[in-house]
Parts: sequence; structure tokens; C-alpha cells
Amino acid sequence: MADYDPDNIFAKILKGEIPNKTVYENEHVLAFEDINPQAPVHVLVIPKGPYTDMRDFSKRASEEAQMAFSRSIGDIVEILELEKTGFRAIANTGINGLQEVPHYHLHILGGQPLGRMIHIS
Ligand code: AMP
Repeated sequence: MADYDPDNIFAKILKGEIPNKTVYENEHVLAFEDINPQAPVHVLVIPKGPYTDMRDFSKRASEEAQMAFSRSIGDIVEILELEKTGFRAIANTGINGLQEVPHYHLHILGGQPLGRMIHIS
């Protein structure tokens, strides 16, 4: 796994160098609207610490940071009013996952039926 790139776009968002449409924020977590939404609701949830992907976060983040991230999902889903209709959460990871931004992020998608989980073309 590559080292964390401190100049990746989400690191710049966390440093306030690039604007974002914040949905939720606490000490450990930032959630903001995806700039290129793939569904009526498309939000990215990121930890504030420097983790490249889900595995890296799972292995290296503190218990407190991991708990805060997990707990934030419930709050964010309620803010987005997705708790009744449901949603999909995706963490694209590495080459096969087609991860573009090398800072761990969870996509939360909803607002309409989302079709099959995997489409390979
Ligand atoms: P992934 O392919 O899982 O790495 O997804 C990266 C996501 O980040 C894509 O859905 C992009 O639309 C989104 N994205 C890239 N730049 C920004 C930005 N400045 N603000 C919000 N979302 C972004």
C-alpha cells in the first residue's frame, strides 16, 4: 500500500484549502456532498486522520476514531433522511475497487432505488 499523500484532495478539504458542502462534522469525522453525485443523495464520509483506505483505517486508527466514525454513520443517515428508505454505503479501495482519492472515504448513496450492487462493463 502506498504511503498517505498529504496533498490529496480530501486532505486539502480538511485543511480548508478547498471548499466543501458539509453535511456533518465532529472531532474525528467530516461528511460532505460528492461533487459529482451518482444518486439524488451522495455524501462522502471521511475520517480526519491520514488514512489511505478502509483497511489502513481499520488497522491503524485509534479505537476512539473508529468508534466515532462508526457512530457518525447513524447520525448522517438521519440528517440525510435515509433511515426509512435505505441507502448504500461503499468504500472503493485500491486498484480493483477503482479508488480515485487516496484518503479513506465511505460513499453514502440514496434517494432512489439504486439497482444492482455491481455492474461490470
Ligand atoms: P473514489 O472513486 O471512491 O475514490 O471516489 C472519489 C469521489 O470523490 C468521487 O465520487 C468524486 O466525485 C469525489 N470528489 C472528488 N473531488 C471532490 C471534491 N472536491 N468535493 C467533493 N467530492 C469530490
